[in-house]
Amino acid sequence: MKKEIDFGKRLAFGCLRLPIIENGEVAPGFRDDSLVDEEAWQKIVDKGMANGYNYFDTSWFYHCGNSERAIGHCVADKYPRDSFILSDKMPVKFMQTADEMEPIFNEQLEKCHVDYFDFYLIHAISSETYEKWTNAGLFEFLVKKREEGKYREFGMSLHETPEFLDRVLTEHPEVDFVMLQINYLDWNSPAIRSKELYETAVRHGKPIVVMEPCKGGTLANPPEEAVKLMKDYNPDASIASWAYRFVGSLPGVRVVSVGMPRMEFLEDNMKTFDDFKPLNDEEYAIIDKVVEIINAKTAIPCTNCKYCEEACPLDIPSGDYFMLYNDYYRMTQSSDYNDVCTPAITYGFMKERRTGADKCVACGKCEKVCPQHIPIIENLREKVAGELYSHNPDSMLDNKVENLE
Ligand code: SF4
Ligand code: SF4
Repeated sequence: MKKEIDFGKRLAFGCLRLPIIENGEVAPGFRDDSLVDEEAWQKIVDKGMANGYNYFDTSWFYHCGNSERAIGHCVADKYPRDSFILSDKMPVKFMQTADEMEPIFNEQLEKCHVDYFDFYLIHAISSETYEKWTNAGLFEFLVKKREEGKYREFGMSLHETPEFLDRVLTEHPEVDFVMLQINYLDWNSPAIRSKELYETAVRHGKPIVVMEPCKGGTLANPPEEAVKLMKDYNPDASIASWAYRFVGSLPGVRVVSVGMPRMEFLEDNMKTFDDFKPLNDEEYAIIDKVVEIINAKTAIPCTNCKYCEEACPLDIPSGDYFMLYNDYYRMTQSSDYNDVCTPAITYGFMKERRTGADKCVACGKCEKVCPQHIPIIENLREKVAGELYSHNPDSMLDNKVENLE
């Protein structure tokens, strides 16, 4: 007998970011961030479960499939099925035909060691493939699975426009809930339009699961000036807690999905969600100022979700490169200007191991899947291969050799 779903403390484990085995031996076809450190993850799961944090949100391709396996090993093998909530997703972006739906769904159950999911979502439904999948019977397939008791609630995640969300929810009232990227930096962002997406879901009466509440960690590590504002107001609150309280304060938000690859992240988040306090007016005003500060110092609004890397035929780790570029850019905006060589050198090492930004052939596959709508090709060429690498001593040497020739 399935128990009633209790959303408890409204904090979910976002299983896109699990602890990984550093420098582990990498199996062919797997990235070096795909190997989950299940020993470390088990400890985090156990601590969460002991404190009422029992919601796990995974997906087919998180950690190249190893996220679902880690759910099987560390959650389902250890805890009774009715003691945890499990959410998984149909990876339509990476599927070609409708014939793949059934085997993928069954394999997901198998990998997670469960016989049903609580929530099942269409992963990152997009305006580009919506009609193809509608005509292929995806919605009917998922309704049938829900009727068969293979999962309880039908959701969809998307990184699209509010107009598209409105269209899908109007055409498919059978969708029970939505998963949206919402955080205080994207709330009024013209590219992401979190506020309008949120309002669209509320207008349709759909509960919301929040993803990227901390924008891939960006909001846990804002510029010093922003940190000072928040610490002056409340020295005891972590910087990340401001981001979680922002989304947790929104009516209609059912649960906030957060990557917690380290025990200290869970412990800090428990302080926020054990006794949740909505933001007050003074705190909202501080967040407005923090947004201004961050926007002035972020060059590429990448969350390092790695969707582009999965899509890239050359395995170019654009997200990692953009993180390095942003580090470099922040340094150019501060008194640490002399350190700009550090991210440039790190980029030099990375491009030895992986494919360099200069090797991009501009096929555009990455830009089609980027949830942040980033002009990846241009940024790789101009900001990473050009500006960032120009601060790497190797590049200076390359130039000298060229000049000699
Ligand atoms: S460029 Fe886009 S798809 Fe790639 S990691 Fe950044 S946000 Fe994700
Ligand atoms: S445009 Fe460049 S980075 Fe993007 S998928 Fe193609 S080769 Fe990879």
